[in-house]
Amino acid sequence: MMSDTTTKIDIRNLNLDKLSVFLKENGEKAFRAKQIDEWLWKKSAKSFDDMTNISLSTRELLKQHFTINHIAVDKMQRSNDGTIKNAVKLFDDMIVESVLIPTSTRITACISSQVGCSLDCNFCATARLKRMRNLNADEIYDQVAAIMQQGEEYFERPLTNIVYMGMGEPLLNYQNVISSIEKITSPKGLGMSPRRITLSTVGIPKMIKKLADDEVKFKLAVSLHSAIDETRSQIMPINEKSNVTELLESLQYWYTKTNRIVTFEYVVWKGVNDDKRHIDALVKYCKKVPSKVNLIEYNAIDDPRFVQASSDVIQLYVNQLEKNNITVNIRNSRGKDIDAACGQLANKEE
Ligand code: SAH
Repeated sequence: MMSDTTTKIDIRNLNLDKLSVFLKENGEKAFRAKQIDEWLWKKSAKSFDDMTNISLSTRELLKQHFTINHIAVDKMQRSNDGTIKNAVKLFDDMIVESVLIPTSTRITACISSQVGCSLDCNFCATARLKRMRNLNADEIYDQVAAIMQQGEEYFERPLTNIVYMGMGEPLLNYQNVISSIEKITSPKGLGMSPRRITLSTVGIPKMIKKLADDEVKFKLAVSLHSAIDETRSQIMPINEKSNVTELLESLQYWYTKTNRIVTFEYVVWKGVNDDKRHIDALVKYCKKVPSKVNLIEYNAIDDPRFVQASSDVIQLYVNQLEKNNITVNIRNSRGKDIDAACGQLANKEE
């Protein structure tokens, strides 16, 4: 026998209008649609029986026709620094990971956009997983809603920021990512400000231009790691398809259209990009587009080619950038002990 999840469609694929039409066609009052929609999004109902102000007969009708493919937090791990990592089970039993990162002022949700990843960045653990599929908009939304609840439950604080920096490449799942952000920012959804959302991408010029054309309101971060093509192509194969010059052009386009600066994510490794040539190239690159730099601590993924550079070299980067009036932050890892830090999400428990 086939399970519900394969025979019935997810009710969240219907927008409010379609839901109203369905209800009317089945002899129900159309205004119920609004209540049901509220349960589905704002209140994150996991089943039709959660919908206590909807009559039993209406709930039965919904059950006959639809399912709710809500994610389930399958396993939760807590780091000694407070970070929480969730193994999230999807309706087809696939797993992605999401992370709650607490600081004194923020609760940040780091969420996944794909099951696995197709990009093969040499230094990233997620790259070792095959890309299985894109996440649907509601699967992305559910990760945020779940972390919002965990923020209240474990820290008694609201969610303040969302970063699309988990598994997968968000710009290779464009429409679902955009739809998820629409729902997350909608007053009918989680009501978050788009300015508190950052999308991190490996840097796909065509899609960055599309973001700009679509006039999105969230922030953009780009995983640069080197402003020199030869180096970047060695560690990030995507750079062979579109080089740093094309990337820069797309970012200039982004800035012209949105007036929002770009954040470059950058890890410094011994013998890879820890010399003056790379520092100078980064400074020159940053001067060509309004931007700031986050120097990210490397999280080792047992590959001998990659070793975190010395703090002296990191300081050289900081000095040179600051001397040129480019904002730079050093980002220390969170949740390392439970493999929850950048580049470590790899379903290790599986
Ligand atoms: N695909 C997107 C988002 C996922 S990666 C992107 O490439 O931006 C989130 C960030 O972690 C990226 O900046 C990525 O380059 C970085 N990262 C990957 N592996 C890492 C590692 N082992 N240590 C530190 N940062 C890493």
